[in-house]
Amino acid sequence: MTYGQFGGAEPALRQDVLRAAARHLTRGLVFSNGTIRLDPALPYAIHISVWGLGEQGARLRGADVFTKALRNYRDDPRATFVFTLNAENLESVPELARLCAEAGVRVSFSHFSPTLEYSRLLDDAQAEKGDYFRISRDGGSLMLDRDGLARAQDLIAAALDAYPETVVYSHAFNRWIHRPEGVYDVDPQTGLPANCGSRVTTHYRHFHTDMTDAGDAKCCTPNIDCRTCRLYAQSLASVLHRVQEFTATEASFSDWLDIWEHWRRLFLVERGDALVARPPAERAGRQPLAAA
Ligand code: SF4
Repeated sequence: MTYGQFGGAEPALRQDVLRAAARHLTRGLVFSNGTIRLDPALPYAIHISVWGLGEQGARLRGADVFTKALRNYRDDPRATFVFTLNAENLESVPELARLCAEAGVRVSFSHFSPTLEYSRLLDDAQAEKGDYFRISRDGGSLMLDRDGLARAQDLIAAALDAYPETVVYSHAFNRWIHRPEGVYDVDPQTGLPANCGSRVTTHYRHFHTDMTDAGDAKCCTPNIDCRTCRLYAQSLASVLHRVQEFTATEASFSDWLDIWEHWRRLFLVERGDALVARPPAERAGRQPLAAA
């Protein structure tokens, strides 16, 4: 085992487990909502989920989690805020990028990817069904349609150009992930993708919190509908897995290498003293994280 990813529920509630893991695994990633600050000595990258700014985030998450998380992780070189784009929050991208740049944290993007149950309820036109299916409109949902995907691509490109050290993304991936036809070849019979790089294999295992093997689960998000999946970590693994799509020209191969750099900045942190959060004064001249 060379790299650990810790997610689901809230890993920051079990920092004893993370500290124990860090004694054996020096590289890894914690997925967190950012409301509890992780021990500065933990050597892992931290991806903090964001669903909106202020009231917008509160509507989807029940509280303004972003403001608290930004306070907790200001100037922490491990932290990347991952904004899940949906049909209602796209126009927050410029403001989000500015706030993250000012706070000395990085930002990247994922896309709302419905669960199989959400898709089924939408197909059945069942709106406002209980506590767990609150967001739906006639003819619409949180999912990005063709226009929304195009708008997301434009907004991310502009943010990347305006804040290249803050925005962890690549123009090549930005074009790839926003293909309106989707990014996976899904078998209509099984609902499973033929070309997803995040499928569980003998080399990529998942374990429950009691350390039992997750077994034959299709991936780490087995309740997501593969037809419309655009989750960021899974998509990045998939595009990098499909190197043959990028070998036709020097330019396309250069795109693939740019996506690798995008991946590296997201998933690896520097060795040495950058493993701990440095005080703001030391980070005054912020630079992108160097190679691990
Ligand atoms: S990562 Fe997405 S596309 Fe891949 S198996 Fe899981 S839900 Fe399906």
